[in-house]
Amino acid sequence: MTSTEPSASSNVIRNIIIEDIATNKYNRKLMTRFPPEPNGYLHIGHAKSICLNFGLAAELGGVCNLRFDDTNPGKEDIEYVMSIQEDVRWLGFDWEDHLYYASDYFEMLYDYAVQLIRLDKAYVCSLSADEIREYRGTLTLPGKDSPYRNRPISESLDLFARMRGGEFPDGTHVLRAKIDMASPNVVMRDPTIYRIRHASHHRTGDKWCIYPMYDFTHCLSDSIEGITHSICTLEFENNRPLYDWFLDELHVPCHPQQIEFARMNLTHTVLSKRKLIELVENKYVSGWDDPRMPTISGFRRRGYTPESIRNFCERIGVARRDSTVDMALLEHCVREDLNNRAPRVMAVLRPLRVIIDNYPENQVEMLDALYHPDDPQMGSRNLPFTKILYIEADDFMENPPKKFFRLSPGREVRLRYAYFIRCESVIKDNKTGEILELHCTYDPQTKGGGAPDGRKVKATLHWVSAEHAITANVRLYNHLFSQPDPDGAKDGSDFKTFLNPHSLELLTDCRLEPGLAGAAPASRFQFERLGYFSVDPIDSSEMQIVFNRIVTLKDEWAKLCNK
Ligand code: ATP
Ligand code: MG
Repeated sequence: MTSTEPSASSNVIRNIIIEDIATNKYNRKLMTRFPPEPNGYLHIGHAKSICLNFGLAAELGGVCNLRFDDTNPGKEDIEYVMSIQEDVRWLGFDWEDHLYYASDYFEMLYDYAVQLIRLDKAYVCSLSADEIREYRGTLTLPGKDSPYRNRPISESLDLFARMRGGEFPDGTHVLRAKIDMASPNVVMRDPTIYRIRHASHHRTGDKWCIYPMYDFTHCLSDSIEGITHSICTLEFENNRPLYDWFLDELHVPCHPQQIEFARMNLTHTVLSKRKLIELVENKYVSGWDDPRMPTISGFRRRGYTPESIRNFCERIGVARRDSTVDMALLEHCVREDLNNRAPRVMAVLRPLRVIIDNYPENQVEMLDALYHPDDPQMGSRNLPFTKILYIEADDFMENPPKKFFRLSPGREVRLRYAYFIRCESVIKDNKTGEILELHCTYDPQTKGGGAPDGRKVKATLHWVSAEHAITANVRLYNHLFSQPDPDGAKDGSDFKTFLNPHSLELLTDCRLEPGLAGAAPASRFQFERLGYFSVDPIDSSEMQIVFNRIVTLKDEWAKLCNK
């Protein structure tokens, strides 16, 4: 399903929280958390969760913790911990001193596990992983009790202590909750809560060789921190009884409420860390922050604003059913934001040389040009106009079809902020037929863009002075995947088959108005008639400025809505 209507902040979770505050259900301050696993960079789906958790806490007088759910040594890394913090901050949220790590609770979690064994609610199971799977049953068949299920409490306590002590190799024993092997909910069939992993952890080093599983860690971390509302995605709905079971059985500080919402999916991309890692590791993209990536760092590098991403997350609302949001809506949001704040400048991406035959040699006129037509506050700059200019190659056609109103032989057009020019002749390469330059004349009476005799032209073109323009590299980005749903091929094709071969087009001979020479890294502009662009903060140097296209001016979203 592709949703085309933004469900204007239909936020069921907000309503639940408002109700709980009104009835003082928890008798403590609203507390949410954002719990990323540091095993990859954050993507736009995470942004949705960040906006929900941090946004609701800020709006409703609560606190939101940033908690790293770091219980999987091997896949996790400090690089990811750092990038996640940078991304959350960039999005505009602040955890103040509420930064936590599940790994900081390892000692407490261990004690809780011992408590469960003592309560006869957990046991050490010595079946192999395959056997455990076999005993678990299926959706339609009940599971079978493990032969170790009724092992004496003292024996489980002893084995669990020795598991921690490092006596056993990986996979020989696990600690399992003692719940119900016949439960219709497979999650409740004596789930594993600890396993042996002789692996170094990025924070606890070699201190531990047993690690707690997600379901056990998560509810207890929430309780330890005093979370009131534990917001997660729908795939954890089946795990909610287990979340509640641990908290009911154990003596814990409090019992937070788990609330689920639908994962966000976006067209023309994938939002699974595993797949994104695959793209990075196999160099389909230049890195996690490749401007084509759906990661927060990718969007940032491309030139997206945090405001536009927050606005997007607000507009899509909170769904209880899985849905896919059209990328066109995200693009619409950034366009809307940049329309107000990006100065307009002129840049010629594919230059075609124009010589104004009747313009005085060596004359330079400085023409006043507004940075924003609707916002005089942004001010203006002077653009040099000279005899030799560049215009966009595709603004000229020698043999124009009916609907082409731009420049062609004998036709007159306006140059933005300057004069009317008329094309008099075309110079071509004798051998290849390639158009080399145009000879034009200008009408001195039309300075500023209007003709005293009232004659009209049908097009206004952007241009730069050949002598004054700076040269730049410009990268035009398109969808990373050509298919709207690269994950959903009917024939089961791998998502990488749908990578768009034209997702990046590099232009190396672009000519920009001279004022852009010192443009700050990451600053954003509208290149008139072309789109919004920003200075790549990494690849730009004093020698060579590099611009990324953030988004074109064509609003596909408006078109979809009008249909
Ligand atoms: P992935 O499946 O991509 O690896 P994950 O859910 O395992 O993602 P976590 O680091 O555990 O990644 O996610 C942190 C939080 O972000 C979780 O609470 C999760 O529910 C939320 N989240 C992750 N992906 C999405 C998404 N596509 N839409 C909304 N929330 C998401
Ligand atoms: Mg997860």
